[in-house]
Amino acid sequence: MTKIIDGKKIAQKLKDNLKTEIESLKTKFKSVPGLAVIQVGEVAASSVYVKAKTKAAKEVGIKVFDHHLADSVSQKELLDLINNLNNNKDVNGILVQLPLPQNIDEQFVLDSIHPSKDADGFHPLNVGKLSISNSINENLLIPCTPLGCLIMLKEEGIELSGKNAVIIGRSNIVGKPMAQLLIKESCTVTVTHSKTIELKNICKNADILVVAIGKPQIVESDWVKKDAVIIDVGINRINDIENKKTKLVGDVLFDDVKEKVNAITPVPGGVGPMTIACLLKNTKIAFENQNKLNL
Ligand code: NAD
Repeated sequence: MTKIIDGKKIAQKLKDNLKTEIESLKTKFKSVPGLAVIQVGEVAASSVYVKAKTKAAKEVGIKVFDHHLADSVSQKELLDLINNLNNNKDVNGILVQLPLPQNIDEQFVLDSIHPSKDADGFHPLNVGKLSISNSINENLLIPCTPLGCLIMLKEEGIELSGKNAVIIGRSNIVGKPMAQLLIKESCTVTVTHSKTIELKNICKNADILVVAIGKPQIVESDWVKKDAVIIDVGINRINDIENKKTKLVGDVLFDDVKEKVNAITPVPGGVGPMTIACLLKNTKIAFENQNKLNL
């Protein structure tokens, strides 16, 4: 029987634990972790993500500082805001929702967030720490999506050591940090991308296949090994012709692939909820690090 990995359920467990931990921080320190959420412009998908992140943060007891800026905002104004938040003691984590308008240099903005407040784990210092650490320790601020994928694999009791892991996608937010995490778990990792030759054959050797491409349903059952574990990171909106609506699908052709494999994440309800839960986890870690509770 194929296991459908329930990301919603695992994320809820993570959030329940965070809520308890944050309540205890509040009792001890009379303060709670604070998360500043910055959105620039009106990209519809960004508004959906920001709303979901804000709601989840409030549910676990994190204080949210909302900053919704017009898309006419200059890079200087955005950097000034981040500088203020870097110096605000009530703000422990800062999240800049991507993408930013084209006139703004995204990496420059991400680099301006103080590394200790980098709730997304995208700052070069945190990327470097993740790269050189031999294990995943509790102080690290790790990119939320790959961290969520790893937590799901562990919660499902999936053996990782010595396994062949193939990642499709080499982005800074998913593919590369996912590779770092799986290397630490002693997987043998292959990172593939749009220029990879014989991609299907490489995927066929994967015990663990993480797919983060951003193209709907391209991984079919003849790409995967029997009994593999499939983590589908992709989120794509397509037309649902039967119901005359649109719907969300992953990068994996779920109904086809699920017949063959041991375990698979659905879209929606797989990686997405874990990404949000890990953002909250990072905010709590940032609070603890700044208050020197993890020494
Ligand atoms: P990206 O565009 O930055 O990277 C996509 C990667 O896929 C690139 O490395 C590219 O080389 C590779 N690629 C493109 N076409 C390919 C092909 N035909 N064959 C093999 N590789 C190919 O995207 P990203 O930010 O890494 O996101 C990937 C997907 O994951 C998107 O659908 C995004 O919406 C989704 N995503 C989901 C979450 C979540 O929480 N579930 C979080 C982040 C991203």
